[in-house]
Amino acid sequence: MAIIGIDLGTTNSLCCTWQDGRTVLIPNTLEEYLTPSVVGLDENGTVLVGAVARERLATHPQWTTHNFKRLMGTSATTALGEREFLAEDLSAFILRRLREDAERFLRQPVDEAIISVPAYFNDDQRCATRDAARLAGLHVERLVNEPSAAALYYRQSSGSGDQSFLVFDFGGGTLDVSLVDCFENVIEILAVAGDNHLGGTDLDRLIAEHFCEHNALNWEALSPAGKALLLQIAEGAKKALSTQDKVVMSLRQDNRFYSLALDQQQLAHIAIPWLERCAAPIERVLRDAGRSYEDIDDILLVGGSCNMPLVQKYLRYRCQKPIRFTGRADMLVALGTGVYAGVKSREEDLQEVMMTDVCPFTLGTAVDSSGEVVMFPMIERNSILPSSVEHRFCTTQSFQTIIEMGVYQGEDHSPQNNLQLGKVMIRVPPAPAGEESVLVRFTYDINGILLVDVRHEETDAHEQLVLLGKRVQFSDEQWEQRQRELEALRINPLEQEENRLLLSWGERLYQEAVGEARRELGIVLENLNQALASQNAHRISRGRRDAKEYFQSVEDRRFAFEEIDPEEFLLSEES
Ligand code: ADP
Ligand code: MG
Repeated sequence: MAIIGIDLGTTNSLCCTWQDGRTVLIPNTLEEYLTPSVVGLDENGTVLVGAVARERLATHPQWTTHNFKRLMGTSATTALGEREFLAEDLSAFILRRLREDAERFLRQPVDEAIISVPAYFNDDQRCATRDAARLAGLHVERLVNEPSAAALYYRQSSGSGDQSFLVFDFGGGTLDVSLVDCFENVIEILAVAGDNHLGGTDLDRLIAEHFCEHNALNWEALSPAGKALLLQIAEGAKKALSTQDKVVMSLRQDNRFYSLALDQQQLAHIAIPWLERCAAPIERVLRDAGRSYEDIDDILLVGGSCNMPLVQKYLRYRCQKPIRFTGRADMLVALGTGVYAGVKSREEDLQEVMMTDVCPFTLGTAVDSSGEVVMFPMIERNSILPSSVEHRFCTTQSFQTIIEMGVYQGEDHSPQNNLQLGKVMIRVPPAPAGEESVLVRFTYDINGILLVDVRHEETDAHEQLVLLGKRVQFSDEQWEQRQRELEALRINPLEQEENRLLLSWGERLYQEAVGEARRELGIVLENLNQALASQNAHRISRGRRDAKEYFQSVEDRRFAFEEIDPEEFLLSEES
């Protein structure tokens, strides 16, 4: 059985494995490495995943969803049609699809995976990720932090010597900054910080709002489909500006035509507030690790948003440090999980690498401090793992016979604002306040398992609590039922994926178009449908090719991304 590594991203997910001494990215049926983290249901209740679902975000908003990684570990549900799903259910669909892709590619069953999560995911979010894997039939022994994975891959492939660097992972919905030390055969994550609500999609939104402002459109008044469409156009323009100097965005709404020309300079103007929000996590990471800019060698760029020259320029300017851009920024994390998969399957050439991780959050207990209950940190944020800390706690009330130790995770001074993970209770002999005491030990290991051990020495009473791995939220029967329910939902078969994508692509273009263009698209769609229904292999392949070419030409015209002559453009707008 093969082991795969998975980067389960907010925007895109990827899958990788270790083969013949190197990492191999696994393509999906559409021959792409990035599978959009989008899930939807169609009219027959079939689950759609990836590019097919993404095409339907604008045309079927009630039946399609994305960005659900932000809801991991919460009880918030998302409605797709009549049904409600937890973020982990939706993630399970993505994982199931990636697993199918891997099985097809590797020609063997896959039942084990290494999955990466943001370094600052808390316990609930990590458990939800494990649950999602379980629902997808994947055994996950270990979750790895995304920056650790990227650093591991970078180290492995560049073979560079001892150094300290920042891993700057800027994706679609999150920014994750980590400080990494590499020396001899050790990769040590010294500190992590991030912004859970900062990513490429926020810039898309700023561009879309700018577009509205320029065209005297009211963003708030746009229909959900109109918003989705404009965001898509904004993202397209943003990406185009990563490789060319100017673009023209154009949008057709209610029979009117709106447009905006954008160049690097104007994009920079729009993006500055967004870029400036990147500074706080960088400074915090350095502060937490007790380091300054002088102590780091360079900055490793990870995540799709790092493809923007503007982001690279900002980092050079702000940090005055060289940057390392590999050109595969949005695949580094997945490639790193592939290396882990190799380590896991005991590939010999990989034995030497040692990894350390840090605890991304503070773990502690609640204590009474002059009448007020406050958090007592046992293992502080950014402690190196594994970490074990012992502390003695005394009784606070006379003749109390039970000491209760709550276990919390979080940075707030008040325990009730942190996440309670559990509690341990232990009996003590009645005595005046402060005379009896217990020894409490917190041990947090590299697999994210927290062991809380409470001991009363004189009586040798002893209580232990093992936290993590499973939330008690579901009983075994409930689990089985959930699994059955999700399995009953059919995922669109792999072999139909390409046809489905073409159809939903055409459908979206049809809905956007008006007049003659729309009529033509209608005919192309009709031809495509007939070809697909013909059961004649030759006709199907020709029909697909024709439709694809046509849709692509419509797409090219829609975005008009060629470099433009500004004067010509201005004249053309008047006519
Ligand atoms: P995540 O980790 O959130 O799943 P990714 O690392 O795949 O996301 O990054 C996705 C983000 O990167 C999106 O917001 C996308 O618009 C942006 N992105 C991808 N490629 C480019 C590019 N060439 N230029 C600008 N932005 C890009
Ligand atoms: Mg990512």
